Amino acid sequence: SEKKIALEIKNLKVSYGAIQALKGIDLTVYEGDVVAILGANGAGKTTTLKKISGIIDGEDGFIKLYGQDITKMEPEKIARLGISMSPEGRAVFKDLTVEENLKAGAFTLKDREKIRKNFERVYRYFPVLEERKNQVSSTLSGGEQQMLAIGRALMSSPRVLLLDEPSLGLAPLIVQDIMKIVKEIKEEGTTVVIVEQNAAQTLKIADYGYVIELGKVSTHGKASVLADDPKLVEAYLGKH
Ligand code: ATP
Repeated sequence: SEKKIALEIKNLKVSYGAIQALKGIDLTVYEGDVVAILGANGAGKTTTLKKISGIIDGEDGFIKLYGQDITKMEPEKIARLGISMSPEGRAVFKDLTVEENLKAGAFTLKDREKIRKNFERVYRYFPVLEERKNQVSSTLSGGEQQMLAIGRALMSSPRVLLLDEPSLGLAPLIVQDIMKIVKEIKEEGTTVVIVEQNAAQTLKIADYGYVIELGKVSTHGKASVLADDPKLVEAYLGKH
């Protein structure tokens, strides 16, 4: 049977004042895949995720979630429809405890049993968060805050999880852990869109990848093909 399209993005354009950050992005995300968005600093990766989650406005193009047009919806509505974002820079509620942060992530849910199951899921991925559930989040390490941001995004049972640079500033061993968990999240049925600087490691767990340059898609293809593309290896992948 054919795979369903979870997210369909066509000709997306976004500007910040005079700066056009996205100049017409096309992107298709199939249900159950991990899709990597790669590219240099300032290419427009974060802007793409922010636009999908509705926290910034666009000028042109459309975004469809399972065929439903969400282009102009409010962020809260988009979250209720099943898109959840883990922002760059460990943006957790610093004054709240770990448990309170996770509870806040479940704001779209009423079903207590489902919320309980989501706590279980997050604590299974990140046991350190359960150990520290009563700790104020500002006192967590950088890596733990990153885990909390991902965990919070998972608490709403998203159909599509958007991850903005989950490995930023983390030690190599923790980066490996995070990538392994992203793979597990996918294997449990959540579609994932992941923005990363860490291209080589991300392509290992991704199904498909897009490279964004100056607000446009310059290349896209199966992750395994992109990982072997000599031009990409030169530009983004380094020699790992
Ligand atoms: P990085 O890897 O450095 O996070 P990115 O690919 O995620 O980069 P974006 O953050 O999407 O890039 O930024 C795309 C462009 O839009 C950049 O030129 C950036 O300077 C600009 N930009 C982003 N946010 C704003 C803003 N709030 N106001 C003005 N310009 C912005």
